[in-house]
Amino acid sequence: APTARLDKLLANLGYGSRREVQTLIEGGRVILDGEAETDPAQRVYVTADLATRMTVSGVALDPAPGFILMLNKPLGVTCSQKDIGPLIYSLLPERWRRRDPAISTVGRLDKETSGLILMTDDGALLHRIIAPKSHVPKRYRVSLARPLDGSEAAALAAGTLMLEGEEKPLLPVAMETLSPTECFVTLNEGRYHQVRRMFAALGNHVDALHRDRVGGLALPGDLEPGAFRILGPTEIDAIF
Ligand code: URA
Repeated sequence: APTARLDKLLANLGYGSRREVQTLIEGGRVILDGEAETDPAQRVYVTADLATRMTVSGVALDPAPGFILMLNKPLGVTCSQKDIGPLIYSLLPERWRRRDPAISTVGRLDKETSGLILMTDDGALLHRIIAPKSHVPKRYRVSLARPLDGSEAAALAAGTLMLEGEEKPLLPVAMETLSPTECFVTLNEGRYHQVRRMFAALGNHVDALHRDRVGGLALPGDLEPGAFRILGPTEIDAIF
């Protein structure tokens, strides 16, 4: 595991300026493996389990750098600074928004899409998930304005559907019908507003959109809208 100076580690996790965290450390507020660590220059191993070994002012350390979480995105919050409305980052603890490296979403969901979204401070992991050639499938539950006519699954599976204004046909999309106006679709790419535009191209209209899977990782039924959970190694592996 990499090592970091304790004061720099805490400052980068958002606990305060270098000076402020030095005061915390020298004041005996930082406990590592059961003992106060009072030297700001002490190097510590930055392991994934650091949060279980260190407390700051009596509270478990925030997740060590290089973590990934899943969040159940509610409707109405945005993944983009350019949109209007509360940002998805406002659902995280305040201090987490001052981290360096910063936490970002792994891809985006529309403001009016709910469900599973991943967030990480790990640029390499982010790239591994969103790189076009990684082909991590994403599943959405779609509610439609008009009943399906029975032709959609074949049209989506063909790999020939063109979206308005684009030059390359979509990769094949798997569709599973749930009711006359509801289905699952599984995408192997993520074009802008893809699901909404796909059903527009098929002459329908998406009323509601919810993502419930990214790769082999499913949104847990007990994760309430707005809640999040740090992923363990098994869950991270399930993505790929
Ligand atoms: N497709 C969409 O249209 N919107 C999303 O948020 C995700 C996929």
